Amino acid sequence: MGRRSCWILVLCRSCDAGRFCATIWTEKQSCSRVRRGRKHLENSGPLGKGRGLLLVQGGIPFRRGVGRNIVAEDNPGGTTMLNGAEREFLAGLDAGAVERDLEEISRYERPSGSPGEAEAHAYVAGRLEAHGVDTVRTAFPAWTFAFGEARMRFWAGGREDSLPAKIWGYSPDAWEEPVRGRAVFVSPDRFPPDSIAWFADRTSPSGRDLEGRIVLSTTRSAVAIRDACARGALAYVFCWPYGDETVIHESAVCAGWGAALPEDVELYPRIPVFAVDRPTGERLIALAEGGSLDIELRGRSRSEVKALPLLEAFLPGDSPYFILLGAHMDAKHHGATDNGTGCALMLALALRFARLKKRPFGLRFCWWSGHEFSKYAGSSNYALERFDELNEHCLCYVNADVPGSKGADDFSQVAATPDFMALARRAVRDVTGQDGEHVGPVNSYDQSFYNIGVSSCFIWSSQLVPGSPHGSGAGAMPWWWHTEEDTFGKHDMEVLMQDCRLYALGTLRILEPGWLPDDGALWDRLIGELEKLDGRGITLRPVLDVFRRNRGRLAGKGGLKERLRAIRRLNQALYCQRAPYFQDFRMGDGYVPGLSLPLAALAGGGLTDKARFVLDRYAVAQRNRLMVLAKELESL
Ligand SMILES: [Zn+2]
Repeated sequence: MGRRSCWILVLCRSCDAGRFCATIWTEKQSCSRVRRGRKHLENSGPLGKGRGLLLVQGGIPFRRGVGRNIVAEDNPGGTTMLNGAEREFLAGLDAGAVERDLEEISRYERPSGSPGEAEAHAYVAGRLEAHGVDTVRTAFPAWTFAFGEARMRFWAGGREDSLPAKIWGYSPDAWEEPVRGRAVFVSPDRFPPDSIAWFADRTSPSGRDLEGRIVLSTTRSAVAIRDACARGALAYVFCWPYGDETVIHESAVCAGWGAALPEDVELYPRIPVFAVDRPTGERLIALAEGGSLDIELRGRSRSEVKALPLLEAFLPGDSPYFILLGAHMDAKHHGATDNGTGCALMLALALRFARLKKRPFGLRFCWWSGHEFSKYAGSSNYALERFDELNEHCLCYVNADVPGSKGADDFSQVAATPDFMALARRAVRDVTGQDGEHVGPVNSYDQSFYNIGVSSCFIWSSQLVPGSPHGSGAGAMPWWWHTEEDTFGKHDMEVLMQDCRLYALGTLRILEPGWLPDDGALWDRLIGELEKLDGRGITLRPVLDVFRRNRGRLAGKGGLKERLRAIRRLNQALYCQRAPYFQDFRMGDGYVPGLSLPLAALAGGGLTDKARFVLDRYAVAQRNRLMVLAKELESL
């Protein structure tokens, strides 16, 4: 053939997954202009994963099968194509090396601060240094937890039995002195909602109705556990409500975050929290509801201040500005997909970008610890220790967590701050052919940099397709999430390489000459969110006036330095409640959380006088905080 056969099959937005019509784009090798042809394929068979559809762009397979999100026909022709340099760059990602790296990282069990994690860090550092990339390994203090053996015995109908259980992180130790009591099932709707309202009073309107009880429930809300404790419960058993898998998922329940403030110390559980799988949970709940069930729980658990490691690699650029990229190395067990895949992805990116000749900005890669056993302590501590350089020069934070899992063909949730949304969405389209939608504020996934005002570009990427057999029922995570079963082989190299290309392409485009963040989108989102809140019990008109006035004056104007100064304040207003040099804790999700959360709680009713008073005054203080940020923008 005289020219390379490249074709792209684009499905109509209106076609369902069973029958489809399509536009076929063909492309000459030498030119990036797209020739469109249209062909209706109405008689084709049903589409699905593994049905032999391979979409190819520039020789790079970028999508196998067809998920539910498809490229819209109204894509402006040519604008979503890769240029020659991008194709060449992406073709330089080595899938064989990524899989070998993943296999090596997944060999080790990697709890935070463990020898296995240190081995995995050493392996990644060795790979980088062999390719001439300098690395730095340091340590930082973290408030961590560790858990071990757990046992559950129970008595029902005169019979004694035992069932498998695990103890969750930050629980008080219950090994030498087990907890024993009458079990009671409390449905999630009998706990207060996971809202700031609980923090404003901290006494339960239900009184001490769970005195001496062991609570069974299907929610893992931190507020529910605090409420159970306030109502006198001795322990809390989280009954996994999703899939039928009999492995028990491990986690921790607390509203704290990383490098905590003194007042946050109270946010850690004061009663032990255990977890059981769904079949066990259903059996226990039936026994508790059917008569008398007594449970004895034992579990080894320890919380302590411990030094955790950090591995960094830095690729310098032609300016002091840099992109921060991170993935957590620590894992509940072998953590092949959570987060061996993310660590291998970051290694692949570091090696590929090291070969890029011209970098206008630096790239700083971090392999975090303290994510799984210390609530994002690695990223949170980094925000604390590197505050000034992040504030002055960090362009954005790029985070990879759980990419490349089996069954995760869905790239439709694009998680980024508004100023990076267009870039992220375009990269998703160009790499996967899927049309992503903006995901609202994300209050997890090592997003420890909002207080500084640093934007995010990719918080996660591939997600399980809803209904996937690899999912845990209707839950968002795979059935092996946070268990011993997250081992090498749970990944899908095709998905993982799509993730790699997506992150590489998005990052490469930030390095394009003349790139500037889309600060206008951030201004618009903030003003839009403030307009929604205005008049809901508080007037924001004066604050809005200052923001609107300065949007016209500042948005889309100036160079990087000027825009970053504005972006810092806009992110702080949109995502945070606390000052830049502190860390917000996890209290709920919402834009402008300092206002949206208390105003929603006040509008919801059912509050004590004390909670109403506290939340009302808090909202006024937050309004004042927004005015300070608006006036700082005015002085730019
Ligand atoms: Zn993870």
